[in-house]
Amino acid sequence: MPARPRQSLHLAEERPSRVFGQAIVPEYDAAAWRQRADRVHQPVTHALVGHQPEPGESGCMNGVVARCHMPAYSARMTQEAKARLTAIHYEMALAAKRSGRKAEDIALIAISKTKTAEEIRPLIAAGQRAFGENRVQEAQSKWPALMAETPGLELHLVGQLQSNKAEDAVALFDVIHAVDRPSLVAALARAQEKLGRTPACFIQINIGDEPQKGGCAIADLPALLAEARGAGLSIVGLMAVPPEGVEAAPYFALLAKLARDHDLNRLSMGMSGDFTTAIMLGATEVRIGTALFGARS
Ligand SMILES: *Cc1c(COP(=O)(O)O)cnc(C)c1O
Repeated sequence: MPARPRQSLHLAEERPSRVFGQAIVPEYDAAAWRQRADRVHQPVTHALVGHQPEPGESGCMNGVVARCHMPAYSARMTQEAKARLTAIHYEMALAAKRSGRKAEDIALIAISKTKTAEEIRPLIAAGQRAFGENRVQEAQSKWPALMAETPGLELHLVGQLQSNKAEDAVALFDVIHAVDRPSLVAALARAQEKLGRTPACFIQINIGDEPQKGGCAIADLPALLAEARGAGLSIVGLMAVPPEGVEAAPYFALLAKLARDHDLNRLSMGMSGDFTTAIMLGATEVRIGTALFGARS
């Protein structure tokens, strides 16, 4: 049996992680947690504010773990992920109950954009199965390995999709939330044909008529829907991101009405700051990043 390399023995002797943790990690963590708690949507804030780091603990979201030469993730990190997940499920169930809906009719998609595989694994270990990314290339670099580790994961694309990435998207994603123009419909149809895969698709609506945002104009929805159906896409519902800084409820209500008018029964709407409102107005999938993973840098 080969001897352990001397160097790692030295490292272990010089920097026991407990001492390292007591000296540095609690200070660093306390500030990070306070910051995150400030930025997170009100209903879930208590879950984060109530958390007080213990000596030696390293948070799962601040990169300290790697620098401490600790395992990729610990039981403690899974526990923290589970607590955040439970808090979101609680808020979701409450909103469902208040609007006379069943909690099991609403799916939580964990939006893991910008987060590393190491940051994502604790949430998978805590039981989360549906994840969303907004860039094809970033998703390609993280998810094939994570999917090989854990069967049964479901991957959603929630960002703008360029037609030249349609084939990569159809190959990797189970659900595509941002179908918004005829050229993309055509590219997705070609990719489906070639790969023999038919991801579920949402048509994204530019619900606030904002020039800088993706999404099909409300007036163009009937034509785009007909085209997508004709091309063999599996259109299951509508998706939208309401304008920032104003009450989202009217936009959610409008999206729900558009879906009803077109016999579509799934609604991808609601993020960390407004998912309870979205649920009360009919969301069937909420897309939550910050409240699950902490703020993105
Ligand atoms: C980033 C993103 C989300 C998640 O936003 P949070 O506010 O972090 O929950 C949801 N939907 C889309 C389309 C996104 O790009």
